[in-house]
Amino acid sequence: MDYDLLIKQGRVVDGSGLPSYVADVAIKDGKIAGIGRLNGSARRTIDADGLVVSPGFIDHHTHMDGQILWDPFGTCEPQHGVTSIIMGNCGLALAPVKSGDEDAIVKSFVRVEAIPRIALEKGVPWGWKSYGDYLNRLEGKVGINVGGIVGHIAVRQFVMGEESTERKATGGEVQKMREAVGEAMRAGSFGFSTNRNERHTREDGLPVPSRLADDDELFALCGVVSESNSGVIQVNMGRHCVAQIPQYDELARRTRRPIVWQSVQYKESEPELWKNMLDGIHKTFRDGYQAYGLTHTVPLMRHFTMKDAQIFDEFPIWKNLMFLPEDARKQAFADPARRQKMRDDMAEPRPVSFHRNWGRVFVEKVAKSENDKYLGKSVADVAAMRNQDALDAFLDLSLEEGLNTTFETTNRGFNPEVMSTIMKSPYVIIGTSDAGAHVQFGADFGYCTTLLGMWVRDRQMISLEQAIHKLTFHVAPVYGIEGRGLLRPGFAADVTIFDAKTVKACAPEWAEDYPAGTKRLIQRSEGICQTIVNGKVVYEDGKISGEMAGNVLRGTAYRAER
Ligand SMILES: [Zn+2]
Repeated sequence: MDYDLLIKQGRVVDGSGLPSYVADVAIKDGKIAGIGRLNGSARRTIDADGLVVSPGFIDHHTHMDGQILWDPFGTCEPQHGVTSIIMGNCGLALAPVKSGDEDAIVKSFVRVEAIPRIALEKGVPWGWKSYGDYLNRLEGKVGINVGGIVGHIAVRQFVMGEESTERKATGGEVQKMREAVGEAMRAGSFGFSTNRNERHTREDGLPVPSRLADDDELFALCGVVSESNSGVIQVNMGRHCVAQIPQYDELARRTRRPIVWQSVQYKESEPELWKNMLDGIHKTFRDGYQAYGLTHTVPLMRHFTMKDAQIFDEFPIWKNLMFLPEDARKQAFADPARRQKMRDDMAEPRPVSFHRNWGRVFVEKVAKSENDKYLGKSVADVAAMRNQDALDAFLDLSLEEGLNTTFETTNRGFNPEVMSTIMKSPYVIIGTSDAGAHVQFGADFGYCTTLLGMWVRDRQMISLEQAIHKLTFHVAPVYGIEGRGLLRPGFAADVTIFDAKTVKACAPEWAEDYPAGTKRLIQRSEGICQTIVNGKVVYEDGKISGEMAGNVLRGTAYRAER
């Protein structure tokens, strides 16, 4: 046999951004063996006539650190053509960890990433200490390729224990943290992630530890990535404003590593923001430093009830109420004086993510059939029907239904021209799937199929070649993922075969596939024919193969050490 797999007559979009062409792609021993007119014998031949053959997509912003331990395919990643994921974003990682500190780590994941506690308790088989131990634990046990970034929250907890949520670090502690980051880099971490988002607390209301770090600590730890000459620095600074861009610029200049920050987005409440952000980024790149903004292809949908809502966390009065026990919270919502405080809190003129537009918050599900008439209506519509003010209607309806009414909103607004302009910028990285996180609030991890369906085919706002480039080889070099992201002989045989005429992300649906039967939202796709990882077909005809075809990916500092 000349080849293990021969993909015939597909339209090859190779990830470089160059024009596509019809060719055969051969795979042998997990690598691309040839591209062109190929007639050798093969164990299996796939007829890709009329289909697109591209490199597998790289989902670099996930929070799969926990899920990948009980779900080795990180479903629904392969359903969307994803062959490699990076976890450990936003400062959150499951290692390093001291014995006894596991629950402190869980507390951050539960609140910041909204992963149900029971799933983490049942699904994470602790037992590692260093970052390398954690990565080793995944060897041979993953169906897609998995890499990670070591997170500041874990590193700080590891060195300072619970005091990490209370105070600045001493010089000695910073030195120990530097050693932990260095050890993680040598074990294969793709960089370092941090989190200064002032909305990010643990489950117990304490700030996530990284928020207590001063600039000296931050630069000292990012300096380790710089010295190792490998990987990215991923930052979640919270408030998405132009005033933060000089910080990213300074980090990029001082470390000379790629910075990846969240996020460049269209916000209805601040229509000029995205443009000012792009102008800010351009300056850094013009000077020869890299500070990439992140963006998304999906207008982020959030589904919530007033039992579990987090989208109001940026309003302090609301946030305090959401942390009250349910009964006390109900009383507060019913009290006119508290309600007025909520109204004033939301009306306060300062930049927030929430659009403050009740015409754009919709009733998705009702708990009582008598309220069926409100289904699909906006809260503003409901208020008009009930002859009430919008906030009163929102809270009264929630209270009448025992806080079980489900609402849905895009929290930033939707402007297709602006979004496509952002996506096309070479200084913007596409992808904030957050896969593995916020699992009961949304399922937006189908950003790859959304890009190919909504933006390439339906709206024709970005070319197929550029879109594939953005999902593959635009990402790989920034993170230092070697030998992937392009269809070229010698590259890893991570391949996605799809039908450009039908590809799309389906609407999110509920599943009960998390540990202990915990429910979560999943998202399926249409039009993805095969997802191939290291030469093995892991997804085909709507089904996962079950084969552990993935590799644990490690950054270049890992190899340098050996
Ligand atoms: Zn994140």
